[in-house]
Amino acid sequence: MCGQIAKLCVFCGEKPDRKTKEHVIPKWLIKLTGGDHRQAFLGVKYSDGPDNLAVHRHALSAYTVPACESCNGRFALLEELTKPVVVKLLSEQPISAGDVEILLDWLDKVRIGLWLAGRMIGTNVFRAHEPNFHIAHRIGWCDRWASLTLLPEQVGEGLTYAGVGTPMFGSMPSAFSIRINRLVIQNASSPRILTRWLGLPYPATKRVRTPDGLMFHSHICFGKNRVLPRMMDYGRPFNGLEVFQPAYPFLLKDCERPFKSPYAQRFFVDLERLRAKPLFATDREIRAFEELGKSEFAVMKHLPDSSFPDHFSASTLHLQNYVSLIGLYSGAPVTEHVFYRQRHLSRGLRKLNNLLLRKMAAQWADPTKSNDGFGELELGLKVLSI
Ligand SMILES: [Zn+2]
Repeated sequence: MCGQIAKLCVFCGEKPDRKTKEHVIPKWLIKLTGGDHRQAFLGVKYSDGPDNLAVHRHALSAYTVPACESCNGRFALLEELTKPVVVKLLSEQPISAGDVEILLDWLDKVRIGLWLAGRMIGTNVFRAHEPNFHIAHRIGWCDRWASLTLLPEQVGEGLTYAGVGTPMFGSMPSAFSIRINRLVIQNASSPRILTRWLGLPYPATKRVRTPDGLMFHSHICFGKNRVLPRMMDYGRPFNGLEVFQPAYPFLLKDCERPFKSPYAQRFFVDLERLRAKPLFATDREIRAFEELGKSEFAVMKHLPDSSFPDHFSASTLHLQNYVSLIGLYSGAPVTEHVFYRQRHLSRGLRKLNNLLLRKMAAQWADPTKSNDGFGELELGLKVLSI
């Protein structure tokens, strides 16, 4: 095991000029969900080596990461804009398409922030390398999706997240879940998870033979110009309204031909920048909207049973496996060796998630077993947290 990664700004990845602290879980959210002094379970700390695993707990309000002053100011605005959207969702007041975009931006921010924080505090098993992206690089970078569920009002206050402690998340921060009082959000972002199923141009991997051997590139394929069945079909076990936005990490001028079809062009508010309209889906339709109102809130409602927390955690792991299988590793061209090594790693991480799912199922069957790893650690047994 190697030492901790450098303390760089979580937003831009540079060494902070004037260092400030960014709350991984924003203060307004801590306040909204029950106050300052709660302890958060932040997973198992791996950084002291395999023989010294310890559960990492922290007061939520002291869970901070470094940020430069200018980035912190810029992203504070996103927090200010997000709070009223969450409050409106909790109280079932209509939200606009712009509000949904703000929420998707914020979920990108929190998801990547939790991943970077995991690397800094040592609960991420993949912290051996410096991260090659930070929050500012990943907001709206590729397809993003969220499922919004509203539990009955008597559920009460609370903040829970799921999926951020898995080795899968450590390797690829593409999917997690968060519960904010009665609002449950499952969230995923990865190239191709939406565009291919919406019939839009989508990224794929292409093998190119070069004098130095096989190289694997990402390239853009023509869309099918129709909606394909089973988009984001990972077996969600509760009701929810799916809201999402296709996105590409380039501009139209970089890749024009696949976007010439009138079918594809309908999806964009700003074709030059390939900025797509936010959409929602129910069992029967996918459509653009100006406002989510009463009938959409009806789709979000779910009456939980006592096993809801278990479903909340388990379905997050299923979501991670789905995204790992359907999404695309996207980045600079890689050699054959690196490509197959990445594929092998993804397969191993999905297997590990399946193992965790079996372990969780055994724990539910026998409630005397601990499910946060704390009991096992006290007995000196090795655990993996989820
Ligand atoms: Zn910065």
